[in-house]
Amino acid sequence: MFDKFNNDDSSYNVENFELIKKTAPEVGEMIEKEYNRQRNNIELIASENYCSEAVLAANGSCLCWKYAEGYPYERTSGNKGRYYGGTEFVDEMEEYCCDKWREVFNTDYHVNVQPHSGSQANFSAYKSVLKTGDKVLSMSLNNGGHLTHGSAVNFSGELYDMHFYDVDDNGFIDMEDVKRKAEELKPKMILAGASAYSRKIDFPKFAEIAKSVGAYFMVDMAHIAGLVAAGEHVSPFGYADLITTTTHKTLRGPRGGLIFGRLGLAKKIDSAVFPYAQGGPLEHVIAGKAVCAVEALKPEFKEYQHQVVLNCKEFCNEFIKMGYNVVTGGTDNHLFLLDLSEYEFTGRDLQNRLDEVGITLNKNSVPNEKRSPMQTSGVRIGTAPMTSRGYKEEDFVKVAHNIDEVIKELASK
Ligand code: PLP
Repeated sequence: MFDKFNNDDSSYNVENFELIKKTAPEVGEMIEKEYNRQRNNIELIASENYCSEAVLAANGSCLCWKYAEGYPYERTSGNKGRYYGGTEFVDEMEEYCCDKWREVFNTDYHVNVQPHSGSQANFSAYKSVLKTGDKVLSMSLNNGGHLTHGSAVNFSGELYDMHFYDVDDNGFIDMEDVKRKAEELKPKMILAGASAYSRKIDFPKFAEIAKSVGAYFMVDMAHIAGLVAAGEHVSPFGYADLITTTTHKTLRGPRGGLIFGRLGLAKKIDSAVFPYAQGGPLEHVIAGKAVCAVEALKPEFKEYQHQVVLNCKEFCNEFIKMGYNVVTGGTDNHLFLLDLSEYEFTGRDLQNRLDEVGITLNKNSVPNEKRSPMQTSGVRIGTAPMTSRGYKEEDFVKVAHNIDEVIKELASK
């Protein structure tokens, strides 16, 4: 997909638009408009990316109408069998997909490739080791965690007794606070991982704390999974009991989720996905995930992830040079947060104005946020999508100056 965007050759997509338009003209036109928006805008949403045409083709393949409730034969989990006939090829596909993901992360952990999304992966991962009402210690939404990490408006906040560790005054995860709260609360599980955290996460230290209080240690690596696969971030494998991820962020695959777990948890993980949380797996998405894993094993993938991080550092430094306040004062990964709390305008105002000039990012809360999540005092900026489209450091420096112009315009109003 992204190479087409750059080469100005969109034949593949245009053919598809025409096909859709023949049956449902409005739908074809809406997709075409979105395609053009994606093509013309500078995409800085840290949780998005462009997947390859091979991933897209697998995702749109004939596997999309195959029912295959259950699991392929000979899974390590002991969950044998499907509830439908004619699954010999999707069985092969799903086993292959599992093997490839183990290879990507160089692990012998059990893997379940069926979760339809990151949220569903978390739902099932929790279910595999927790009972309703169990205590969990995680990072709050305000501090950069995800909704599924215990927000009151999410299943996690309702089903479990969620507690949160803090970030320090500079926005770094406060490991002393993690330790103190773990010892006080004796949670059943400690969760690390975030949606808006720009620094390396100390998985070995988290694991040590979890072990010292007898808690399960889970990592949601949805944002940084591509970096982990490429060795740009310390791996949680070997430290965490459970690991979840999405496949559509830095991993650059189709929308979906994965759960990894220590071998002793295999059966529990599988039954928490099917039959507990889901019915038939999306075998076409599993095929897309398999293509994504094959791509992640190629040397170009490593180069890409390295460039994502280099770009992010340079982009972030340019804002710092211009005098902006960046949460934690920098970045180690694919994203950073601009703290705009000194301004009258909100994160949402900046997001909306940037939308008008063709730059897409999202508003985001900052530590000690005073505004509502619908307004916010910051924005989150990521480099994964534009790096897929070939952007290098100097391109991001230019974008930093474009954003600076818009901020000055809003500040002068
Ligand atoms: N976990 C983290 C850390 C995320 O950032 C996200 C999504 O942004 C999710 C889970 C949920 O993924 P999904 O949107 O696929 O449900």
